[in-house]
Amino acid sequence: MLKKLIKTIFPWSPTVYRQAKQVMTMVHNQLDAPIMILLYHRCAVLETDPQLLAVTPENFANQVKWLKERYPVLRFDEPWELVREPSIVLTFDDGYWDNYAYAVPILERLHVPATIFVSTERIGTGKEPWCDDVERMILLNDNLLGEKIHLDLRKQGTVDIFIADEEERRDLYYRVHDAVRLMQPDEREEVLAAIEEGYGSFPVRPSHRYMTESELQELAESRYITIGGHTVTHSRLSVLSREKQREEIEESIRFLEKTMNKKITTFSYPFGGKADYNADSVAIVREMNLKTASNFPGRVYRNTSLYELPRKIVRNWDWTTFPVMFQPFWYN
Ligand SMILES: [Zn+2]
Repeated sequence: MLKKLIKTIFPWSPTVYRQAKQVMTMVHNQLDAPIMILLYHRCAVLETDPQLLAVTPENFANQVKWLKERYPVLRFDEPWELVREPSIVLTFDDGYWDNYAYAVPILERLHVPATIFVSTERIGTGKEPWCDDVERMILLNDNLLGEKIHLDLRKQGTVDIFIADEEERRDLYYRVHDAVRLMQPDEREEVLAAIEEGYGSFPVRPSHRYMTESELQELAESRYITIGGHTVTHSRLSVLSREKQREEIEESIRFLEKTMNKKITTFSYPFGGKADYNADSVAIVREMNLKTASNFPGRVYRNTSLYELPRKIVRNWDWTTFPVMFQPFWYN
């Protein structure tokens, strides 16, 4: 409605349209204090980070300090009806061990709350999540260099390619990552197992494990940390049947409740873009009364659905870059 109105008034230029939208958002922010939910994944120094998901502990500490000096930092799981000034909420997705080892001590030292959404299948296994397995099997796999590769990606097609250099290997990594992301969990496991069988892989990295059950249990005692669900297998919900989606959501919540001996009331959609989940997913979290985070830009206002809360991804910005990148979050 608003979009249509602006487009009617300013039909001639995308730049003018964008600026007009920003002004409207700023007016909206004056009338209804926005809450900005930030999305982190890893708090670690990594040798490779092809999806740009890691923020170093040093940068994370500086970012949180900066935010805390300027805004109230709310809990994801608290009611927000009475919020009257622009506020921040911090969240982490996935459940990597570095959240426990580095992020939580920083948050506790600074007295700042955060919610960690955890996919449960890899908890305590020492295995890497499948997206990092793709990195081991392709991006870091030297066996592929100078080789002719044949990969069967099922409905996503086949790949026949000679890998001449690291750049081609990198392209192949993104191709395979994006293809297996669209698969059912079983199919994805089969495809990845076949790749490893055919071409070997870089060894499993302890730096890429998920938290253990006892680490989770320790976090259950923290005054500042809330744990939420993030499915079992970290699959894209929109490719699953409604029944399978329910299983993924319910089982992850059940596992966490049992492990932590606590009621779990929050959830985030894996990947979280609008195409990564569907009406069935929303219906299930609504039925289960799970306050749920997505992953698309925006702010939370009084009328925002609690079952599709927008979030902004934070990258590894240092203390001078962070304020510059962060400020536009309020209107972009
Ligand atoms: Zn995730």
